[in-house]
Amino acid sequence: MTALLEIENVTVSFDGFKALNDLNFAMNEGELRVIIGPNGAGKTTFLDVITGKVQPTTGQARFQGKDLKKQAEHTIARLGIGRKFQTPRVYLNLTPRENLELSCNRDKNVFATLFKKTPTAEKRTVGGLLETIGLDHKADVPAALLSHGEKQWLEIGMLVAQSPDLLLVDEPVAGLTDEETEQTGNLLISLAQSHSIIVIEHDMEFVRQIARQVTVLHEGSVLCEGTMDEVQNDPRVIEVYLGQETHVTPEQMLLLRIAATMAWADNNFDPVQQAVILERLSQQFSSDSEERAQLKADLNNLLGKNIPLEELVPQLTTDAQREQALMLSYEVISSNQINPIEARLYQQLVTLLGLPPETVSRLEAAALENLPS
Ligand code: ADP
Ligand code: MG
Repeated sequence: MTALLEIENVTVSFDGFKALNDLNFAMNEGELRVIIGPNGAGKTTFLDVITGKVQPTTGQARFQGKDLKKQAEHTIARLGIGRKFQTPRVYLNLTPRENLELSCNRDKNVFATLFKKTPTAEKRTVGGLLETIGLDHKADVPAALLSHGEKQWLEIGMLVAQSPDLLLVDEPVAGLTDEETEQTGNLLISLAQSHSIIVIEHDMEFVRQIARQVTVLHEGSVLCEGTMDEVQNDPRVIEVYLGQETHVTPEQMLLLRIAATMAWADNNFDPVQQAVILERLSQQFSSDSEERAQLKADLNNLLGKNIPLEELVPQLTTDAQREQALMLSYEVISSNQINPIEARLYQQLVTLLGLPPETVSRLEAAALENLPS
């Protein structure tokens, strides 16, 4: 199979600062590839190189075997690379149908498109697109009345209307509700049946929903590549994400690490255990639903670490924290059947915490009450 896109040893320097640093990347036709990486990793610059907005200082970029170097942006677009920017660029005073009709006619005169009758074949395409992006019921209302998510889908539709061979999508779910996020995921998965797509994204839960192959960028280079599970458990990736600013306080982080260590006890971090940790902690740390969602996303990005309890427990400073740690840990290991390895580690935790036995029994009973029956 020939690669659809090949990036070879590409460096992009801005006044000596390397936004991309000897980057190598390849993807095949038909792939849905997700690119993640902390802020400043070079993700947007990577897309800028592919679309010709930024020229590599050194190195090569090829699309369908064609050298992209020194090609103008509009030439590259015509080669079949379409890009969706972070903020939607739709005409707000036009309806979704009209916006899509314009996109189908990008190369033609805008006024001609507005005033001429749309040919039937084209109408069908627009109708099909409206259905694909889930906006057929809002086809004829001004785009200004659409939700943020619906505008994003419209813009994805407008991109698809130009039949690109490769779709580039930059952070499509930033600012969307959970439900819109999931629908966006479904839309991208369905488009992936007939398109090659690169998605850049921060939201790990979303990445988990859509990702097959993930590429992690860090400091302008590829840090690692693999399935979501491989990538999320890669110590280098965890380090990079832990180094990033989060909404999680050090006390919360400590609790999270203890819970994660419990969950990792048998080297099998069950999704049920993961869900328990995220639910419980985000509930404990905030009563505001938006803040909770943010915390949950942050916590999810930090789950990978497995640190010895002897290191973690002494860092707990109050009895209240020690009690929280015990209760959460008991809840986590009880969320599916406790196996001997988990039981042993839990016993070690109890000893290290040094709480009175009656407190331990009380907290264990309370933890079991928390679990869904
Ligand atoms: P990401 O999208 O992963 O957050 P970017 O590709 O936007 O990262 O940026 C990578 C790095 O390059 C950042 O440190 C950014 O400040 C720097 N950078 C990006 N564009 C320019 C530019 N035009 N001039 C100078 N520095 C830039
Ligand atoms: Mg960016």
